[in-house]
Amino acid sequence: MEQLMRNFFLFLSKNKTLTKLAKKYGFKFGASRFVAGVDIEHAARKIKEINNDGFVVTIDHLGEFVDNEQEAKESADECINAIKKIADKGLDSELSLKLTSLGLDISEELVMDSLRKILDAGKQHNVTVTIDMEDYERCGKTLDIFKELRSEYENVGTVLQAYLYRTEEDLQDLNDYDPYLRIVKGAYKESPEVAFPDKKDVDENYKKLIKMNLLNGNYTAVGTHDDAIIDYVKELEKEHNIPRDQFEFQMLFGIRIELQNRLRKEGYKMRVYVPYGNDWYGYNMRRLAERPANVMFVLKGIFKK
Ligand code: FAD
Repeated sequence: MEQLMRNFFLFLSKNKTLTKLAKKYGFKFGASRFVAGVDIEHAARKIKEINNDGFVVTIDHLGEFVDNEQEAKESADECINAIKKIADKGLDSELSLKLTSLGLDISEELVMDSLRKILDAGKQHNVTVTIDMEDYERCGKTLDIFKELRSEYENVGTVLQAYLYRTEEDLQDLNDYDPYLRIVKGAYKESPEVAFPDKKDVDENYKKLIKMNLLNGNYTAVGTHDDAIIDYVKELEKEHNIPRDQFEFQMLFGIRIELQNRLRKEGYKMRVYVPYGNDWYGYNMRRLAERPANVMFVLKGIFKK
């Protein structure tokens, strides 16, 4: 049943008509459990509070699978706007973005042009930019773009997904680039041709990748809410004397807040991924797929006046 629900929400997450309708008709964003606000002003206020509570942040302007050039350029402008806001307000925040929001499905030239502008702004204001990983179809392109930019910029990172068979090889390949990597389980619906179908195998691969990346000496952001994975990272830290400034935990805004607090109190660097904007639909559907029990929270948010 759980798997059925998961597939249902992942199917919905890619529905373009529903995405457009959700954007147009929206809902009261303060009521959303997983989104910090409708615009950068709201998000900046929320980030200030999160920073004051002792967490660092990565901000994400929601948007994906953009299919027209104007919208793609607007997304890039919004990323630069967010970087400037981080600097103006003295926020402790990085930026995360999705390449399809910058027009990956339209033209690679457009994406590279926008990314360079965003990374230049990041460089100027000391803001690191992480390229989120999207579905398998776009994984190779995303890594090629990351590698090209990594030779030009210090302030760029990306994400690897433990559910993909290819990731172990990608991780070794990226080792030459001194990469800033977030490692996650993976949030999209993928076929068993390319991804482990069983959760148990994904979890085992996740542990293997974290260990490899840490022992390679690379900075590792562990993006998970899973106690077992977090405990495993703590064991690795002890067993291999991994310095605390070589890794951090990352969790999504609104999820497992008590666990976020516990890790912070234990002295770990804890980064909260804070999305904002009106393109909330795909993001929220993937959160429901991860945990169908969240459906009640989201429905309450949608219908709340
Ligand atoms: P799971 O096994 O899914 O969950 C473990 C436990 O965590 C659950 O039992 C539950 O207690 C809790 N939990 C998990 N999800 C939720 C939820 N939605 N609501 C409430 N409780 C929950 N995926 C990508 O494909 N590309 C990315 O670029 C990407 N970036 C991410 C960035 C960050 C900071 C994080 C935290 C995740 C990111 N993800 C990304 C999503 C990731 O791939 C997983 O889908 C997501 O983190 C759920 O997996 P999990 O490791 O938390 O473990």
